[in-house]
Amino acid sequence: MPMTDDVYDDEIPKEFVTETPCPSCGEFLYFIFYRTNITYEEAVEIETFFCKKCLYKNTQIRQIDRREPKTLVFQVRNHDDLRTVLYRSPEAKISIPELEADIEPGEISTGEITTVEGILSQILDKLQLLDDDDASPDDLKAIRERIKRIIHGNGETFTFVMDDPMGKSRINSGRVITLKHEG
Ligand SMILES: [Zn+2]
Repeated sequence: MPMTDDVYDDEIPKEFVTETPCPSCGEFLYFIFYRTNITYEEAVEIETFFCKKCLYKNTQIRQIDRREPKTLVFQVRNHDDLRTVLYRSPEAKISIPELEADIEPGEISTGEITTVEGILSQILDKLQLLDDDDASPDDLKAIRERIKRIIHGNGETFTFVMDDPMGKSRINSGRVITLKHEG
């Protein structure tokens, strides 16, 4: 497959027929490749295997840029801070020490754009699923109620930590502290 540098020169998708059979109908697949820029993500490569006969399609998006690993720390002080927009890269882990809660890196290859409140809702969803686990149900209930109260604006402050090995995550606030990882 021709993968020379000139493939990268523009954003017009390149298309090649491959010798890989379609998993659905056996016809040779086409490989479509292009590089483009997505807000927050910056440069990504989009690769698609495509069958022209049965329209089978398999697309992968790969990030090109990596940066220095970093940890973002944001002190959430009030209800408005909950609406702070953030970008979480696919490898970023989020934790809130005061709530003993964390979210491991997602499955989504493109990461996600959300808010602090959106992350709290995700934690809440995760805690709902844990309900029947052998962790003490009273503790889970208490922490769920606490998160609900925060989302409804009770003004409880907490620390929002985003640890990103890719270094691409960001939190749209002037009060974010960025810690570089020790090399
Ligand atoms: Zn096919």
